[in-house]
Amino acid sequence: MRKQKVLTVCLCGLLLLAGLWRNGQVQEVSAPAEAGRMIALTFDDGPHPVYTRQLLDGLRERGVKATFFLIGQNVEGNEELVRQMAEDGHLIGCHTESHVDLTRCTQSEARREIEEASRRIARITGEEVRYIRPPFGNWSEALAEDFPLTVVKWTVDPEDWKVREKEEIVRRVLEKTQDGSVILLHDVYPASVEAALEAVDRLQAEGYQFVTVEELLLD
Ligand SMILES: [Zn+2]
Repeated sequence: MRKQKVLTVCLCGLLLLAGLWRNGQVQEVSAPAEAGRMIALTFDDGPHPVYTRQLLDGLRERGVKATFFLIGQNVEGNEELVRQMAEDGHLIGCHTESHVDLTRCTQSEARREIEEASRRIARITGEEVRYIRPPFGNWSEALAEDFPLTVVKWTVDPEDWKVREKEEIVRRVLEKTQDGSVILLHDVYPASVEAALEAVDRLQAEGYQFVTVEELLLD
């Protein structure tokens, strides 16, 4: 049987809703109660040869599991980092081969973008890619019908790619994070990686546990 699963997570004030779309039916799941004090750090656009390495080392020291959405083209030459991600228990998803807006592609271009990136990752990890964060968060019903992937959006966006300043990124993350949060960062900027590790230290001190997106969904 073919399974279709699309997850959208949206922030509406204090209410966090995760909509799970399975076989064409939308189920609304209220995340905070089930999630407890669990949150997910997610990183887009990597891997980056310098900053992703710093991040992985920092996460390993802190015993933190995160989720990485990789651009296929960036995997080339950084295979060792992808291997380390998998070994350290991080979840790895697809962010397309060349960071395109999938809703502006033909269906065959979209297929190439998703499948090439996913194949590159799977060749390294030996595991099929089941999660995607479409660039710009843009996804469509037609894509959902063609690709049996779980779409992961986010609830906390500090716009780190724009801010590029560690303290401000940390401040924005701490201000918005609550139980069940999915935090969006990019491991291709030094300030983002420094901010991520500092936010981990401060949120761990507050009692938050960092899990992969998959673990957040299961709990
Ligand atoms: Zn991106």
